[in-house]
Amino acid sequence: MKTLLYAIEVKIRNGERLSREEGLALMQTNDLAWLGFMADIARKRLSGDYVYFNVNRHINLTNVCTARCKFCAFGCDAGSPEAYAMTARQALDIARAAAAADPDLRELHIVSGLHPEWPFEYYLEIIRSLKTELPHLHIKAFTGVEICHFAKISGKSIFQVLTELKQAGLGSMPGGGAEIFSERIRQQLFPNKAGAEDWLKVARTAHSLGLPTNASMLYGHIETAEERIDHLLKLRSLQDETGGIQTFIGLPFHPANTGLAGKISRVSAWEDLRMIAVARLMLDNIKNIKAYWVMLTVPVAQLALGFGANDVDGTVSEEKISHAAGSKTALGLNKVNLIDLILSTGRVPVERDSTYNVIRVYA
Ligand code: SF4
Repeated sequence: MKTLLYAIEVKIRNGERLSREEGLALMQTNDLAWLGFMADIARKRLSGDYVYFNVNRHINLTNVCTARCKFCAFGCDAGSPEAYAMTARQALDIARAAAAADPDLRELHIVSGLHPEWPFEYYLEIIRSLKTELPHLHIKAFTGVEICHFAKISGKSIFQVLTELKQAGLGSMPGGGAEIFSERIRQQLFPNKAGAEDWLKVARTAHSLGLPTNASMLYGHIETAEERIDHLLKLRSLQDETGGIQTFIGLPFHPANTGLAGKISRVSAWEDLRMIAVARLMLDNIKNIKAYWVMLTVPVAQLALGFGANDVDGTVSEEKISHAAGSKTALGLNKVNLIDLILSTGRVPVERDSTYNVIRVYA
């Protein structure tokens, strides 16, 4: 093992690509300090000392969802007491109020459940009206799973769905819905929604249309180390092909209120930091690795900046999905909080837009 880790260190220092076997060795070592040191070398080479954030607002149009994934605490049936579904007008009012409250707001991040009755035209109408009324806001919306759902309910191809959404004003896509690219796990935890091949097809199609996407991985449930590495390798290979992935986000599974509550505990901060570092080292062609403070907590997100991360996401203001699963983080941070969080790690806070153009460097 020691010889293999030494060989890996030489490759990292030389900027060489790591293999599957080497990725698995990274998942096995308990030398977390070394792993962080290695990831920091890769981070410096790929993205320098900038740490990015943006000013964004999440909108979840509905929690009604036909997929009812076992790991999800957010989705519910239409008749459930917690069920809600926004009209286009309500979504617009939320966005307008958010824009009026914060002149720095630049992005709307919109993801939702798979509603059993809404037609595809409803989503087009929402994007169109948001873009018409608030043209200065970038709309980052819909996971690969939602896009597959739109294709199914409309009878259109993924290409056609994405083309129409782009024409309506969609600017990019978030990375959710990828979960973990394993058919074994899909069958057990999320059999009613799109799997790996469909998610990758959506991302590939989006990239071909000039829509950048993020990419995520849900870890800390029933997956193996091999499945985590294979997931990262599938993303790396897609990125070799298209170059359209802007950021990778590792999402730790929060079991509270899910079908796995009481059976699985939340993974440790140690495991979170290992995952950030391994992602940084394996995804040598994805420039940004996000430490999503909402799911990691602010202290772990700060530590993650020493383990390969170079982005802390955004102000978020109101988040429903991970909080439904027991996330204890605050519902939003303001810009000053984010800048302080980054400055106290000795790195340079950089406000960005949704496609990583620099708005301002806080030196
Ligand atoms: S993870 Fe997404 S698709 Fe699955 S139940 Fe939750 S909202 Fe629905």
